[in-house]
Amino acid sequence: MTRLDMFIDRMVSQRACLDFAIAETALMGGPVFELGLGNGRTYDHLRDRVTGRPIYVFERAVASNPASTPPEDMTILGDVRETLPQAVGRFGDTASLIHADLGGHNLAKNDEFARLVSPLIAPLLAPGGLMVSSDRMYFDALEQVPLPTGAVEGRCFIYRRP
Ligand code: SAM
Repeated sequence: MTRLDMFIDRMVSQRACLDFAIAETALMGGPVFELGLGNGRTYDHLRDRVTGRPIYVFERAVASNPASTPPEDMTILGDVRETLPQAVGRFGDTASLIHADLGGHNLAKNDEFARLVSPLIAPLLAPGGLMVSSDRMYFDALEQVPLPTGAVEGRCFIYRRP
């Protein structure tokens, strides 16, 4: 498998998982959290497909395409290791959908970071809410959900708070 194959699998899986998670949580009113803005592609997808729910973006340094840059008042600027614990005080466990795409090229570092942020993400998710991630996460209280059609095993992960 080439790097191009893996990249395509990741993109196709992200879209399939986000579309599934948006539909599954459509009747929930709580906010959507995008962790890691990057270029803003997945933010743009969320913005297009999510209706009636505010979308907050967590990012340490905004460098997105101007066409998919969130408004300042919806951007929670800073390192998620600090902003996620602060968000628990502000939002509690109200998020209907959390999408995390915080990783880079180093898979071992991504895994280490996923272990670190998992306990910071879990307290933000509402009962019944879904968490979509490009990396395997390490949750005690959330259960893993089977991937929807079109997503590739290992390229995306979905978790639900029972
Ligand atoms: N999903 C995005 C898209 O579709 O364009 C790509 C996200 S990119 C792979 C990862 C982003 O996470 C980068 O913008 C990076 O700055 C951000 N990030 C990584 N670690 C972070 C941290 N500790 N705190 C806040 N943002 C972080």
